[in-house]
Amino acid sequence: TSPTTAEALRSADAHSAHNYHPLPVVVATADGAWMTDVEGKRYLDMLAGYSALNFGHGNRRLIDAARAQLERVTLTSRAFHHDRFAAFCAELAALCGKEMVLPMNTGAEAVETAVKTARKWGYEVKGVPDGHAKIVVAANNFHGRTTTIVSFSTDHEARDHYGPYTPGFEIVPYGDLTAMQAAVTENTVAVLLEPIQGEAGVLVPPPGYLAGVRELTRERNVLFMADEIQSGLGRTGKTFACEHEGVVPDVYILGKALGGGVVPVSAVVADRDVLGVFKPGEHGSTFGGNPLACAVALEVIAMLRTGEYQQRAAELGDHLHHELGLLVGAGTVTAVRGRGLWAGVDIAPGHGSGRDVSERLMERGVLVKDTHGATIRIAPPLVITKEDLDWGLDQLRAVLTA
Ligand code: PLP
Repeated sequence: TSPTTAEALRSADAHSAHNYHPLPVVVATADGAWMTDVEGKRYLDMLAGYSALNFGHGNRRLIDAARAQLERVTLTSRAFHHDRFAAFCAELAALCGKEMVLPMNTGAEAVETAVKTARKWGYEVKGVPDGHAKIVVAANNFHGRTTTIVSFSTDHEARDHYGPYTPGFEIVPYGDLTAMQAAVTENTVAVLLEPIQGEAGVLVPPPGYLAGVRELTRERNVLFMADEIQSGLGRTGKTFACEHEGVVPDVYILGKALGGGVVPVSAVVADRDVLGVFKPGEHGSTFGGNPLACAVALEVIAMLRTGEYQQRAAELGDHLHHELGLLVGAGTVTAVRGRGLWAGVDIAPGHGSGRDVSERLMERGVLVKDTHGATIRIAPPLVITKEDLDWGLDQLRAVLTA
């Protein structure tokens, strides 16, 4: 039997580490863009697990793929091959226009894998002296929570008191091509960027930035590694956010929606001249590329291959951004950023903090997440209907004008 909301919150408070500050909703079931709490109240999910749920809750195709695989085999470890592994790697590589895949589980693990790939490539292919590799990253980045990744975070909450920090990273302002040019030296092995900075508040870089980074990295023999963990797989109206600038990075870092919101699946995808640096025993993960993960991800890739979800995100995204733009006109919102079904909305002073607005939206049956004080993030599942999206926007308007 389910606990009540009050019981579940009390127990979580007592027995879970307080490394999150969730909204006080206790979800029991979910379907499509909707979640139902333990008391039977329904909520429109406008966060979609930070884009892990691009295809919605309980997506039939994904649940069927998972269920079928559960009955066959779920884990072999990489000590043996299994019959979904090669197909997953081949299909994902093809989706990315690359040759090879290195599967992991969480986003942070994929970023760690990309960092290791770049360093190894730097020493063994580019010829950087051992121990001197540099990776250029952007200020306000979010790439995950491991010790090495927080070492190059500029967010105090993410970084403070976790030292000593991993060296070898150079931080430059996001969107500033001149600063990027100045930071790249002969020991630079990679530039690691989010094509749109999600956790920072859905920051879209100035036009030409990603293309400029692409040109610079190509000229200077530096790997361009795009962290598309949150921006990729349909969210922005294209398979990859880099496509908006016609940019093809050397390395794609993928996660979140790759596992369809069912299982954690992440991957680093690149050509053989990059991922070919790994030999047996030099990197790995017990669960990376497991049969269940591969079966679900294969279905995700097949769904993305139709282009249907990207098109929905583009069309509904245009509508979302048009409607949010009207709020800027009305003065209740100071700025809106984003692409496709993804928006960072800065609440105007006097209309509450991002947290206040999130709590008031929750009372009205809409779930979003605040970030950096005044901002809320909107990223509904790509399967949301236009009617439901409009209803969610009605609730936002009501909260902001109350
Ligand atoms: N990279 C980006 C761009 C992300 O948005 C996130 C998660 O929000 C991560 C990496 C880390 O992923 P995970 O939480 O699965 O480790």
